[in-house]
Amino acid sequence: MSVKPTDVSAPPLTADLPGLCLAITEHAPLPIATVDGATHILRYVNPAFCHLMEMSREELLGKAISEILPAKDQCMTLLDQVYRQKKSISHIEQEKDKPHPVFWSYLMWPVVANELLVGVMIQVTETAKLHGDTVAVNEALMIGSLRQHELTEAAENLNAQLLREMTERQKMELLLSERARLLDLSNDAIIVRNFEGEIIYWNHGAEELYGWSREEAVGQVIHSLLQTQFPTDLKHITEELNRNGRWTGELKQTKRNGQHIIVLARKSLDRDARGNPAGVLESITDITERMRVKEALRASEERYRTLFNSIDEGFCVIDMIFDQHQKPVDYRFLEVNPSFEKQTGLPDATGHCISELVPGFETLWFELYGKVALTGEPVRLAAEAKAMGRWFDVFAFRLGGPESRKVAVLINNITERMLTEESLRTSRAEISHHAEVLETQVVDRTVKLGDSIRSLESLNYTMAHDLRAPIRAMMSFTAAMVEDVPLDDTGKMYAEKINRAAQRMDQLVTDLLAYGELSHIPFPLRSLDLGTQVEACLKENAPRIEALQARIEVREPLPTVSASETPLQQILSNLLLNALKFSRPGVTPQVIIRAETRAGVVRLWVEDNGIGIEPQYQERIFGVFQRLHTTQEYPGTGVGLAIVKRAVERMGGRVGVESELGKGSRFWIELPAAKAGPFFPSTLPTAI
Ligand code: ADP
Repeated sequence: MSVKPTDVSAPPLTADLPGLCLAITEHAPLPIATVDGATHILRYVNPAFCHLMEMSREELLGKAISEILPAKDQCMTLLDQVYRQKKSISHIEQEKDKPHPVFWSYLMWPVVANELLVGVMIQVTETAKLHGDTVAVNEALMIGSLRQHELTEAAENLNAQLLREMTERQKMELLLSERARLLDLSNDAIIVRNFEGEIIYWNHGAEELYGWSREEAVGQVIHSLLQTQFPTDLKHITEELNRNGRWTGELKQTKRNGQHIIVLARKSLDRDARGNPAGVLESITDITERMRVKEALRASEERYRTLFNSIDEGFCVIDMIFDQHQKPVDYRFLEVNPSFEKQTGLPDATGHCISELVPGFETLWFELYGKVALTGEPVRLAAEAKAMGRWFDVFAFRLGGPESRKVAVLINNITERMLTEESLRTSRAEISHHAEVLETQVVDRTVKLGDSIRSLESLNYTMAHDLRAPIRAMMSFTAAMVEDVPLDDTGKMYAEKINRAAQRMDQLVTDLLAYGELSHIPFPLRSLDLGTQVEACLKENAPRIEALQARIEVREPLPTVSASETPLQQILSNLLLNALKFSRPGVTPQVIIRAETRAGVVRLWVEDNGIGIEPQYQERIFGVFQRLHTTQEYPGTGVGLAIVKRAVERMGGRVGVESELGKGSRFWIELPAAKAGPFFPSTLPTAI
């Protein structure tokens, strides 16, 4: 396929080549010039070049290019290089003396004709605008990038702020929940209410104090729920709350269970963002108990005051004064009660030192009170204040802790008592002297009396002994008279009466002798089994028991006593025979013998169901010849119980009776229980 020319009608290019070239350069939009010679003289410039240089062709032609080119330093060198080397060169140069950078772009090539260099073509372009645009674009880019950077930075800042806010918010939420938890932990009731009085928050303390749960309380009107009674008009409280932001005071309220309480309420006003009252936070403490204690303290203080003012004892509070060696040297009266002056004789003591009021006051008192102040140990003593001429009974105790130098003193003037005691002591000494003298006299007289009694007893004994012979003679002769002498009935009757009287007298004398003997015969004591002794006694008196068909009960076991056998048998027989003898007519005698041991003493009981004894005679019957009945009613001499008493007492025991008339008698004797061990006193001293 062959290539066709585009326009066959156009003239051939070579027809007028110089003209064509000129036409090309003349219409080229690019500034073009040619130079020749070593000084590079402009030989041709196209209109675009003239426009660029803002000079006419005439002005330009013939001038050295160095004169007109604005950026020419490097350009000249390069032109020389094109001349020498005959090669094209391109170059861009900056015009430095412009306020903003201007660039000149040069394209230079040699014009060779017939192998001879005839000049150099220069195509010049000012790149300032382009560059300016580039710079503007760059600047815009730069600003854009800066903006972007700023935006990124702002975004990052915003993110960081958001993060901070989120963290802050989380912290806040934590803080709030922690505060809510802390509010719940508070012992106080904490209530938040809105300005209409509706409860918004009700902590655990409030639940505990009032008894309503949070669910029950929230939404209720606080003062109606708690039946609050205010110390002043509620209007005034609200005004103060609005004015100061807080109010504190005591309220009376009622719990869910109806119990009335006193509380200390601290109200704080909560305002919204615009500063308007939004609600009230109330912190409430139950002070019912505190008020009760306060009241009790007040009452106690009042009681103390009353006591202080009314007691007879002097009372004072003193402040001890010590020297630099902690030695108590004086004291000052801080307070004295009305009786103080009466007790001490010191008027208006309050505020004064004792050394001012009583010159030469004894140091004993300083030391005494000083010790109380230093040790805190209370002191009670009676001592003489010689300088005051009085005796005092004091009780001193420290007021307050170890640092306190205050001592409270209860003081009584006992001068009179001491004087009385002194005279009493003297009297006592005298009395005791007299008593000693008397005692000696009594001992003397007792000895003498004892001697007399002994001689009387011995006389008695001798007389009784001597009386027996004539009595026996009377008894024998009257018996012989009845038998051997012919007597009529009257004679016989008299003889028999004399015989019975003699018998009775004989019995009396026998009993008296037995009684008398108890005073001087020795009583060898030994361990005797009461069971065996009672058994022997019953055996001895068996005929009598059988005759009366009496019922005898011995309650075993019977303990062992320290006694002498013969008198013990005498005692047992006397008590047993009395129990049988003083029976109620028609009633079978019943006797119980039992014993009990208490604190080393054996009490043996002989109980009967007989006639009994009236209380007023119960002691008397233990005397000699004491009888409550005639011998016709109940025979006897009235010596039996006297013998029992003396014998028991000689063995170191006692005797007694419990009885009621008509209800039987319970006679008892007490003897020492037999001691285990080798030692046993053989006899007791002979009674007087
Ligand atoms: P007597 O038995 O010889 O009269 P006692 O000295 O033994 O003398 O007693 C004195 C008095 O005590 C008795 O006369 C009697 O009145 C009263 N008495 C003694 N034992 C009993 C008894 N078991 N019951 C009632 N009275 C008694």
